[in-house]
Amino acid sequence: MLEWEGLEHICGECTRCGLCETRKNVVFGVGNRTADVMFVGEGPGEQEDIQGIPFVGPAGKLLDEMLSIIDLDRKENCYIANIVKCRPPRNRDPLETEQDACIGYLRNQVTLVKPKIIVCLGRIAAKKLIDPDYRITRQHGQWVCKNGIWMTAIYHPSALLRDVGKRPETFDDLISLRAKIRELEAKV
Ligand code: URA
Repeated sequence: MLEWEGLEHICGECTRCGLCETRKNVVFGVGNRTADVMFVGEGPGEQEDIQGIPFVGPAGKLLDEMLSIIDLDRKENCYIANIVKCRPPRNRDPLETEQDACIGYLRNQVTLVKPKIIVCLGRIAAKKLIDPDYRITRQHGQWVCKNGIWMTAIYHPSALLRDVGKRPETFDDLISLRAKIRELEAKV
């Protein structure tokens, strides 16, 4: 377990998998490091790789809009990271071996942030963090508590850009997320 400074430094020099050979920047994470809510995507895309910040491309713009619906803001009250911290070439899915090489960094981030809630953005994150057999179409919006952290998954914003038909269900999932945030706030 490393503290923030050490973790970000080690991550920035990582050569644990082949993605280090093609990356422009390591995309570590962004947001409030003491937030109650953490969002986890799959891995950086082109814009993220160029800027070194998660979710800054078209999917990121939509994510910010989704967050604002439930009074969340990437800088104020949530933390955003990815399963893999370097861009997979041509935005392919990160390989299991790449995910396994990188997941320790995310686990360290979770330990430091101590979120009450983790929201997986899409299938890849849900399979890695909730259940290897996770089915996003059937299970999105469902809640499970693992190691004291409430976890759910919603459709990835890229999927919502491709298929607007998924947006109403995602709106419901966001409302459920807001309710969970309020429920857990009330408990303290
Ligand atoms: N998609 C992701 O899963 N993560 C990002 O940071 C950007 C796009």
